Amino acid sequence: MAEIKLSGVSKRWGNFVGVDKFDLTIEDREFLVLLGPSGCGKTTTMRMIAGLEDPTDGQILIDGKVVNDLEPKDRDVAMVFQSYALYPNMNVYENIRFPLRVRGIDPSTHKDKVMRASAMVELDDFLHRKPAELSGGQRQRVALARAIVREPNVFLMDEPLSNLDAKLRVSTRAEIKNLSHELSVTTIYVTHDQIEAMTLADRVVVMEKGIVQQVGSPTEIYDRPANTFVASFIGSPAMNLMQGVIEGGTFKADRVSIPGFSASDGPVTLGFRAEDATVGGAGAEISAPIYTLELLGDATMVSVRIGGALISAKADKTFRAEIGDAVSIGVPASICHLFDATTGARIDG
Ligand code: ATP
Repeated sequence: MAEIKLSGVSKRWGNFVGVDKFDLTIEDREFLVLLGPSGCGKTTTMRMIAGLEDPTDGQILIDGKVVNDLEPKDRDVAMVFQSYALYPNMNVYENIRFPLRVRGIDPSTHKDKVMRASAMVELDDFLHRKPAELSGGQRQRVALARAIVREPNVFLMDEPLSNLDAKLRVSTRAEIKNLSHELSVTTIYVTHDQIEAMTLADRVVVMEKGIVQQVGSPTEIYDRPANTFVASFIGSPAMNLMQGVIEGGTFKADRVSIPGFSASDGPVTLGFRAEDATVGGAGAEISAPIYTLELLGDATMVSVRIGGALISAKADKTFRAEIGDAVSIGVPASICHLFDATTGARIDG
């Protein structure tokens, strides 16, 4: 059982702000993902929760108790890092058992605990091997088992999949999801990979430059991005964004005219997702020559250039045309998002 509360937590080094007034309650058993580009403050936030970094301001509470002054070892959190940090001279069994030894847990229970943890990550057949005799994915699973064996109240995972190749990432990601479901432990997971965030999280915190941009379920963040930063960070491809003006309820830009908005007149940024648009239909809102075509297998991505920006729309996988051919793209107001042209904040209408 562990609820974690961050109240006005900031970290500064001199004038540089690494994390700015982070406020959030992470519920017991929640899987929370901190997502953002390199340097946005994800790791610093997690290190403060772990006790490896002191906040400059604010309080961190675990189950209602302020832990700012508690040593990492007294916070009952287990960390899994991007580098596995396994002991090269110990075999898998001893590596997994290590936290039990240093914590003085009754030795008669060690074997059961190690076997249970290793079975969860399917390492039972590798217990006698040294880390050098394992693949990257197996080493990462040893690191996971070593965190699991402690039966902590909180898991903190910092980019645990980033050293794995693409295929292993997908299978280990599925394993982590399944484990977190089985163990029901509050988990905070740091990544810059939006697909990892979307697939693993109960809630995602999107950060940029030390500031929380949006907190929400993967669906909320995908369907209702709070600003243009979140819109352009989430989704593959990212949301199409273009500058234009609203005039009498119609969004206008070069080669674009989309009626049906209730926002007031003036400049705005309009966004829509490639998969929400239709390609080649009648009465389209965008008409432009095709800039490029990409065959994705399950679909064909059609891109046009509007005012310097590349705008993509997903067509059926059978769609065929040539670069330079005129294409019409259906973008009704109902699939569009509007953002303030200056601040980037979402506006309704
Ligand atoms: P990455 O994905 O690259 O690990 P991150 O989002 O985890 O990035 P942090 O490691 O939290 O980013 O760093 C946030 C910012 O704080 C960065 O700009 C970093 O350079 C800065 N920073 C981190 N540690 C220190 C330090 N000890 N002294 C000064 N600045 C620091």
